[in-house]
Amino acid sequence: MIHKFDAIVVGAGGAGLRCALELIQQNFNVAVLSKLHPVRSHTGASQGGIGAALGNEEPDSPEWHFFDTVKGSDYLGDQDTIEVMCEEAVEAVLELEHFGLPFSRTAEGKIAQRPFGGHTRNFGEASVKRAAYAADRTGHMILHTLFEQCVKNDVRFFNEFYVLDLIMDGSTCRGVIAYELATGDLHIFQARATFLGTGGYGRAFSITSNAHAYTGDGMSICLRQGLPLEDMEFVQFHPTGLRKLGILVSEAARGEGGILRNSTDMANVGTGKDGFMAEIAPTVKDLAPRDMVSRAIYNEIKAGRGIEGTGDTGADYVVLDLVHLGADVINEKLPDISHFARKYLAVEPITEPIPVQPTAHYAMGGIPTDVDGLVFANARNDVVNGLYAAGEVACVSVHGANRLGTNSLVDIVVFGRRAGKAMINYLADAEFGRVSDTANEFIQGEIDRLKNGGGKEKVVDLRVAMQKTMMAGVGVYRTKEGITESRDAVKELLRRYKHVGVTDKHAFFNTELVEAIELGFLLDCAWTIAESALLRTESRGAHSRVDYPDRDDAKWLKHTMISKTGDDEVAFDFKPVTITKFKPKPRVY
Ligand SMILES: Cc1cc2nc3c(=O)[nH]c(=O)nc-3n(C[C@H](O)[C@H](O)[C@H](O)COP(=O)(O)OP(=O)(O)OC[C@H]3O[C@@H](n4cnc5c(N)ncnc54)[C@H](O)[C@@H]3O)c2cc1C
Repeated sequence: MIHKFDAIVVGAGGAGLRCALELIQQNFNVAVLSKLHPVRSHTGASQGGIGAALGNEEPDSPEWHFFDTVKGSDYLGDQDTIEVMCEEAVEAVLELEHFGLPFSRTAEGKIAQRPFGGHTRNFGEASVKRAAYAADRTGHMILHTLFEQCVKNDVRFFNEFYVLDLIMDGSTCRGVIAYELATGDLHIFQARATFLGTGGYGRAFSITSNAHAYTGDGMSICLRQGLPLEDMEFVQFHPTGLRKLGILVSEAARGEGGILRNSTDMANVGTGKDGFMAEIAPTVKDLAPRDMVSRAIYNEIKAGRGIEGTGDTGADYVVLDLVHLGADVINEKLPDISHFARKYLAVEPITEPIPVQPTAHYAMGGIPTDVDGLVFANARNDVVNGLYAAGEVACVSVHGANRLGTNSLVDIVVFGRRAGKAMINYLADAEFGRVSDTANEFIQGEIDRLKNGGGKEKVVDLRVAMQKTMMAGVGVYRTKEGITESRDAVKELLRRYKHVGVTDKHAFFNTELVEAIELGFLLDCAWTIAESALLRTESRGAHSRVDYPDRDDAKWLKHTMISKTGDDEVAFDFKPVTITKFKPKPRVY
């Protein structure tokens, strides 16, 4: 089946919906394709807030936000794009309010704001209230608000359409190939402009806060087309996942005053006294950036100050103490995460501290783009005509080596909108080009191989092995030996992946087949993460090499661009970091 649209938006999360809304308002014929129903996108799981210098609670400025984001990125973020994001964040949040988003309010009725990790006033003086929020369901509200606007404007949705490939014609993208889950049919979607907003790859790790659908599809699809991925070594571990499960306890909990405690500090639960972060980051304490807090937790555990686990696990966690906040704050401002603690750990956060450990959370790297979402084809900034990306799948390089909390929700609305505007300009004279009606042959072959190739390898075995090795070797702390072992293990899994077979032969809702395809995408991401981590012989932001503990600006103040050059080979190129206003300095909080 062949469909024709001016523009195809792949992904119905915040980035995709914001982009689609821009296009539909100019009366373009636009379709959104999503492997999930739109409101199941991961944007809906995000909790704590969206950062913008509204200054509703105390003085703030986009320039301070700009500085904090640069410093948070460990100076790897591109300063031209960060400046744009922080400037446009204010308007983007007000626009969401005008679309009807029910933000939490101050007593005077303004959008309420709370502190978040790494966000400060006056270039690092003290924490600032910058995160606009709707209780701890901010992403849920953003997603529903944008979805309603899209429905109101008659955006055409193709839900449960799984995009498996781009249609490329030299250096121009002509659309996508999608698999319809309900029927098993393959569809060709021809488009003059294509947008990817497919989210991250957290499911490559065994402990993650990410949804099951976070399988790195967009990144892998580009990699397989010979396009590069940028800064893949930078994987954010959020410090406070529920122990063993990885389900997120938002940083909003520390924004509201929550304190991390170790085994020597349990007598202080409920008192509000400082915990171990006060020594590591005296100014912002528990609101240091995530990379620092995650490392601090590991260090506490390693130094024997972890809290005794039960049975086999030993002392492997610390606790997050909210008790001193009292029932009203916990129930009103943190209702969802309290529910998670009760439901999944049988812990009552009003009276007991919550057991937490770092959890794989966010992809800083991804598909390289310019400030308008246009995809780069290489490190020399040649572009792919007609192909745009934004959100977690992309690397416009606003997060550099470490993303600050609340900056992803800003990223998706600011750059989703900018990409939409850029696509409108491009569509003024872009043509459909020719697409062969056999464009789906390659993908059909892959599906046939998985269904009928007689492969004996099982998806679950490979997936579990990948998740374990990535967690062990490419987690919060990394060494040459550990990364090499994981990289080799992932390459072996990629070889075994060729012999995967699915037992379900049905056409309709073949979730076993979908999981097999997702595993292939995840393995590509895991591979490029490990290769990039091995290459970067320094510690910067979330990439912490025990064997190279220092940041090395002379050698490594640059972006890595990894491409796949063969079944078993990758190649690297590099791009300079754009520095405009803030010269790199040591990162002290
Ligand atoms: C638990 C949690 C809490 C968070 N809290 C915050 C927070 O408080 N503040 C903040 O700034 N950030 C937060 N984040 C990060 C932030 O939510 C995400 O980075 C952001 O929402 C990603 O948006 P997106 O539009 O890029 O992707 P998503 O919202 O994940 O959307 C991806 C879309 O792509 C579709 N898709 C994927 N692959 C395919 C394919 N192959 N074919 C078709 N469709 C496909 C999916 O169906 C989905 O619609 C949080 C993340 C998590 C996991």
